[in-house]
Amino acid sequence: MQTLIEHARTFPTALSERREEFARLANGQRPQALFISCSDSRVIPSMFTGARPGDLFELRTAGNIVPRYRAQTGACGVAGSVEFAVQALGVPDIVVCGHSHCGAVQGLMRRQRVAEMPLVGRWLAGAGHQPGPDETAEPPAPREDLVAVTQQHVLTQIDHLRSYPFVARRLAVGRLRLHAWYYTVETGEVQAWTPASGVFRPL
Ligand code: ZN
Repeated sequence: MQTLIEHARTFPTALSERREEFARLANGQRPQALFISCSDSRVIPSMFTGARPGDLFELRTAGNIVPRYRAQTGACGVAGSVEFAVQALGVPDIVVCGHSHCGAVQGLMRRQRVAEMPLVGRWLAGAGHQPGPDETAEPPAPREDLVAVTQQHVLTQIDHLRSYPFVARRLAVGRLRLHAWYYTVETGEVQAWTPASGVFRPL
């Protein structure tokens, strides 16, 4: 933690050559995209997209889960953040980015992994994952299965986004685009869902 504190302490000094750029940020934000990714510490969207301050409105949740829209839902930080990005900021694009080695997706595949974390279990229940017949089977699924499940999981969250009325309205008139991405931790490669071919391909 101490290295983080030291960096934060000296950050204003390090910014001395970018003072004007940062001063402009105080006038408001107009991000290029709402970027929904996992809370995982190995996934750094601004690093692999090259985003500068002000470019991404970031929403990070365990497993990049976006619960399906419910009109009568209680307080939900995800729904509120999506509404703000779309309605107030008018973002033209939303990216849902899953990643390799995702602990949340592994928890979805093997619910006993989160048996002692009821809050995580309830959060994962909103992922829209359909447990397979081998839900409790061991050993764990091979790696290629985890990739496929994670990519399908991203597409499910995209479907959930479509259930938000303000998202659906903007999609219908071409004012919003949805992107499903998959990031590989060990290579830094990003793949994107290509509807025409029905597979994820490198960007
Ligand atoms: Zn993850």
